[in-house]
Amino acid sequence: MKYASVPLNQNQNGWLKYDQLPTAYPPLIGDTEADWVVVGSGFAGIAFARRLAAHAPHLRIIIIDAACAAESSSARNSGFIIGLPHNIGSSTAELKKAQAYRALLQEGIHQLSTLINQQDIECEWEEVGKYHCQVDTRNERVLKEYTDNLDVMNEPYQILHQDALYQQLGSRFYHKGIYTPSAILVNPASLIVGLSHNLPDNVTAYNHTPVMAIHPGKVAQVFTPYGTIKAANVMLATNALSRELAPITSQQAAMATFASITAPLTIEQRQKLPAMSSWGLTPVNAIAGATLRYTRDHRFLIRQHVTPALHGRITAAQTYHATQLHQRIFHKIYPQLKDVPLTRTWSGTISVTRNGAPVWGELKKGIYTAGGCNGAGVSKQTIAGTLLADYVLGHDNPLIGSMLELGKANYLPPSPVLDAAIALSLMKERYLGRKEV
Ligand SMILES: Cc1cc2nc3c(=O)[nH]c(=O)nc-3n(C[C@H](O)[C@H](O)[C@H](O)COP(=O)(O)OP(=O)(O)OC[C@H]3O[C@@H](n4cnc5c(N)ncnc54)[C@H](O)[C@@H]3O)c2cc1C
Repeated sequence: MKYASVPLNQNQNGWLKYDQLPTAYPPLIGDTEADWVVVGSGFAGIAFARRLAAHAPHLRIIIIDAACAAESSSARNSGFIIGLPHNIGSSTAELKKAQAYRALLQEGIHQLSTLINQQDIECEWEEVGKYHCQVDTRNERVLKEYTDNLDVMNEPYQILHQDALYQQLGSRFYHKGIYTPSAILVNPASLIVGLSHNLPDNVTAYNHTPVMAIHPGKVAQVFTPYGTIKAANVMLATNALSRELAPITSQQAAMATFASITAPLTIEQRQKLPAMSSWGLTPVNAIAGATLRYTRDHRFLIRQHVTPALHGRITAAQTYHATQLHQRIFHKIYPQLKDVPLTRTWSGTISVTRNGAPVWGELKKGIYTAGGCNGAGVSKQTIAGTLLADYVLGHDNPLIGSMLELGKANYLPPSPVLDAAIALSLMKERYLGRKEV
């Protein structure tokens, strides 16, 4: 029997409002039965459970989380809902894949937008697009590739240079940026907590109930500390932690990344910036560079630093290290705001696959998954969860073909070979992107 590890972030999610209870549902106590057990209440698990329940109201569905939606990576991310793939490539096959990916992301956005309206979820949803920015003046190739990709996809964009960027972002740190209108910014914690509070009636949720092991079989047994669930089918929506529960998913590596948020700027501090409304910025190098946001309530968010998360664990010392890094980067980008303090730093796990493809579909008879987010999962994991429900119920949906078009994640070796390979790849990316922070 395998005893799983669950995510452990020794820090607190800075997006959570004081009135958002971290525990929404009780733990499971006692044995029970269900038609489906969904493990994980992030975007993938919630989308899967909701769609399954809507198509088949007679099914008994249990959704279970080691913590709760408010603690998942889905609540801990930077809140960019992206509608376009970053890298496309030059071949016809790569373009076809990028078009499939775009169709999936757009449908994920459409579903989220419909749900927040139907369920009246207040999550600071803002259709403001995003800036993709570069610091290093010598490396024109990266942004050129990006705009070539946008041209191929027939997507609108605007090129901005340092002075124009200063007017939008209040910083002269960036040499050049590309603005695309098709991204949405949200408070991700409010979004996922809102979705998890509005599950259909035939879905029963349990929080603070780690699944420690699963015995597959005609009737699967799902073991938790205070009760066992017998179920015909199990869906693993555990993303980065799936490797812990199902060794056969050896295509995913658990990594962590960190975000910090500042105090709201005072009126005096805001006078040191041009007049700005909310915006979001992604760096050309996602490993070395910093993702930035300026929020509706005049706070800055910085997401930077990617590190392996062995068994999903991030310590207080690693969190402290990230705070120091973020403080330094923030002061470099905004030297005029040296008196603005960071008020919180937190981490979250992401699942990385070798070739960027997802891990999606049936793993073994009766065990399914939608994982391998590769660092971007708000729209992607929403649509991956929804389509998996259609797939398991045999519902025809042309986007299932688009999902399969993304390919299969390649095999990853076990530790310590995997750990060494990850360390080398991070070192390379940090070197290539050393001028970006
Ligand atoms: C700091 C940060 C910034 C990011 N920024 C963005 C962004 O701006 N835009 C974007 O699209 N994506 C972003 N991402 C990635 C995004 O958050 C993820 O892709 C997405 O949350 C994955 O959703 P998920 O439902 O697959 O998994 P998760 O949200 O990770 O949910 C998995 C759930 O499974 C539970 N679980 C794990 N193991 C067990 C077990 N054994 N038993 C029971 N429960 C278990 C966990 O507790 C967790 O709640 C970011 C991630 C981080 C960490």
